Amino acid sequence: MTNCIFCKIINKEMPADIIYQDDKVMAFKDIKPVAPVHLLIIPKKHISLACDLELKDREIIGKMFLVAQKIAREQGVSETGYRLVINVGKDAGQTVAHLHLHLLGGEKLPWA
Ligand code: 5GP
Ligand code: ZN
Repeated sequence: MTNCIFCKIINKEMPADIIYQDDKVMAFKDIKPVAPVHLLIIPKKHISLACDLELKDREIIGKMFLVAQKIAREQGVSETGYRLVINVGKDAGQTVAHLHLHLLGGEKLPWA
Protein backbone atom coordinates (compact mmCIF):
# COMPACT_ATOMS: atom_id res chain seq x y z
CA MET A 1 0.00 0.00 0.00
CA THR A 2 1.52 3.31 -1.13
CA ASN A 3 1.03 5.36 2.03
CA CYS A 4 1.93 2.64 4.48
CA ILE A 5 5.21 3.13 6.39
CA PHE A 6 5.78 -0.59 6.82
CA CYS A 7 5.15 -1.30 3.11
CA LYS A 8 7.77 1.38 2.41
CA ILE A 9 10.22 -0.45 4.68
CA ILE A 10 9.43 -3.72 2.85
CA ASN A 11 9.97 -2.02 -0.52
CA LYS A 12 13.24 -0.44 0.68
CA GLU A 13 11.83 3.05 0.19
CA MET A 14 12.45 3.72 3.89
CA PRO A 15 15.36 2.52 6.04
CA ALA A 16 14.96 0.17 8.99
CA ASP A 17 17.19 -2.00 11.10
CA ILE A 18 16.07 -5.27 9.52
CA ILE A 19 17.05 -8.37 11.43
CA TYR A 20 15.15 -11.04 9.52
CA GLN A 21 13.31 -11.54 6.27
CA ASP A 22 12.04 -14.27 4.02
CA ASP A 23 9.49 -14.30 1.20
CA LYS A 24 6.53 -13.78 3.57
CA VAL A 25 7.74 -12.10 6.75
CA MET A 26 10.09 -9.31 7.85
CA ALA A 27 11.35 -8.29 11.29
CA PHE A 28 13.05 -5.05 12.27
CA LYS A 29 13.82 -2.95 15.34
CA ASP A 30 11.13 -0.60 16.60
CA ILE A 31 12.16 3.02 16.07
CA LYS A 32 11.01 3.94 19.62
CA PRO A 33 11.81 0.89 21.73
CA VAL A 34 9.98 0.55 25.06
CA ALA A 35 12.13 -2.40 26.21
CA PRO A 36 15.78 -3.41 25.66
CA VAL A 37 14.55 -5.81 22.97
CA HIS A 38 11.69 -4.35 20.92
CA LEU A 39 11.18 -5.82 17.48
CA LEU A 40 8.32 -5.72 15.03
CA ILE A 41 7.41 -8.77 12.99
CA ILE A 42 5.26 -8.04 9.97
CA PRO A 43 3.78 -9.85 6.99
CA LYS A 44 5.14 -8.67 3.63
CA LYS A 45 1.55 -8.71 2.40
CA HIS A 46 -0.32 -5.57 3.49
CA ILE A 47 -2.95 -6.54 6.05
CA SER A 48 -4.22 -3.52 8.02
CA LEU A 49 -5.65 -5.06 11.15
CA ALA A 50 -5.63 -8.42 12.88
CA CYS A 51 -9.41 -8.34 12.60
CA ASP A 52 -9.07 -8.29 8.78
CA LEU A 53 -7.31 -11.66 8.77
CA GLU A 54 -8.79 -14.40 6.62
CA LEU A 55 -8.37 -18.15 6.67
CA LYS A 56 -6.01 -17.93 3.68
CA ASP A 57 -3.63 -15.82 5.83
CA ARG A 58 -3.10 -18.62 8.32
CA GLU A 59 0.30 -19.61 6.92
CA ILE A 60 1.56 -16.02 7.24
CA ILE A 61 0.34 -15.77 10.83
CA GLY A 62 1.95 -19.08 11.70
CA LYS A 63 5.21 -17.89 10.17
CA MET A 64 5.10 -14.63 12.14
CA PHE A 65 4.98 -16.60 15.39
CA LEU A 66 7.74 -18.97 14.32
CA VAL A 67 9.93 -16.02 13.33
CA ALA A 68 9.21 -14.46 16.75
CA GLN A 69 10.36 -17.69 18.40
CA LYS A 70 13.59 -17.80 16.34
CA ILE A 71 14.38 -14.12 16.93
CA ALA A 72 13.68 -14.42 20.66
CA ARG A 73 16.28 -17.19 20.80
CA GLU A 74 18.81 -15.16 18.81
CA GLN A 75 18.23 -12.08 20.96
CA GLY A 76 18.79 -14.13 24.11
CA VAL A 77 15.35 -13.62 25.65
CA SER A 78 13.94 -17.07 25.07
CA GLU A 79 14.95 -18.29 28.53
CA THR A 80 14.18 -15.10 30.45
CA GLY A 81 10.84 -14.60 28.72
CA TYR A 82 9.28 -12.03 26.44
CA ARG A 83 5.95 -10.59 25.42
CA LEU A 84 4.23 -10.80 22.04
CA VAL A 85 1.65 -8.08 21.44
CA ILE A 86 -0.70 -7.19 18.63
CA ASN A 87 -2.60 -3.94 19.04
CA VAL A 88 -5.87 -3.93 17.14
CA GLY A 89 -7.45 -0.59 16.33
CA LYS A 90 -7.99 2.67 18.15
CA ASP A 91 -8.68 1.61 21.72
CA ALA A 92 -5.57 -0.59 21.75
CA GLY A 93 -3.49 2.32 20.44
CA GLN A 94 -2.59 0.83 17.04
CA THR A 95 -0.74 3.64 15.27
CA VAL A 96 0.47 1.85 12.12
CA ALA A 97 -2.23 0.22 10.01
CA HIS A 98 -0.09 -2.69 8.82
CA LEU A 99 -0.39 -5.79 10.98
CA HIS A 100 2.61 -6.17 13.30
CA LEU A 101 3.60 -8.39 16.17
CA HIS A 102 5.62 -6.61 18.86
CA LEU A 103 8.31 -8.72 20.53
CA LEU A 104 9.33 -7.16 23.83
CA GLY A 105 11.88 -8.42 26.30
CA GLY A 106 15.26 -8.03 27.94
CA GLU A 107 13.89 -6.85 31.29
CA LYS A 108 11.01 -7.56 33.66
CA LEU A 109 8.02 -6.15 31.78
CA PRO A 110 5.32 -4.22 33.61
CA TRP A 111 1.75 -5.45 33.24
CA ALA A 112 -1.18 -3.15 33.91
P1 5GP B 1 1.37 0.13 17.30
O1 5GP B 1 1.22 1.25 18.26
O2 5GP B 1 0.67 0.41 15.97
O3 5GP B 1 1.02 -1.21 17.84
O4 5GP B 1 2.92 0.03 16.99
C1 5GP B 1 3.55 0.72 15.97
C2 5GP B 1 5.02 0.71 16.28
O5 5GP B 1 5.74 1.08 15.13
C3 5GP B 1 5.42 1.69 17.39
O6 5GP B 1 6.04 0.99 18.46
C4 5GP B 1 6.38 2.65 16.70
O7 5GP B 1 7.45 3.05 17.52
C5 5GP B 1 6.83 1.85 15.49
N1 5GP B 1 7.17 2.66 14.34
C6 5GP B 1 6.43 3.67 13.83
N2 5GP B 1 7.03 4.18 12.73
C7 5GP B 1 8.18 3.46 12.55
C8 5GP B 1 9.21 3.52 11.56
O8 5GP B 1 9.22 4.33 10.64
N3 5GP B 1 10.23 2.62 11.70
C9 5GP B 1 10.25 1.70 12.71
N4 5GP B 1 11.30 0.87 12.74
N5 5GP B 1 9.28 1.62 13.65
C10 5GP B 1 8.25 2.48 13.56
ZN1 ZN C 1 1.51 -1.89 4.58
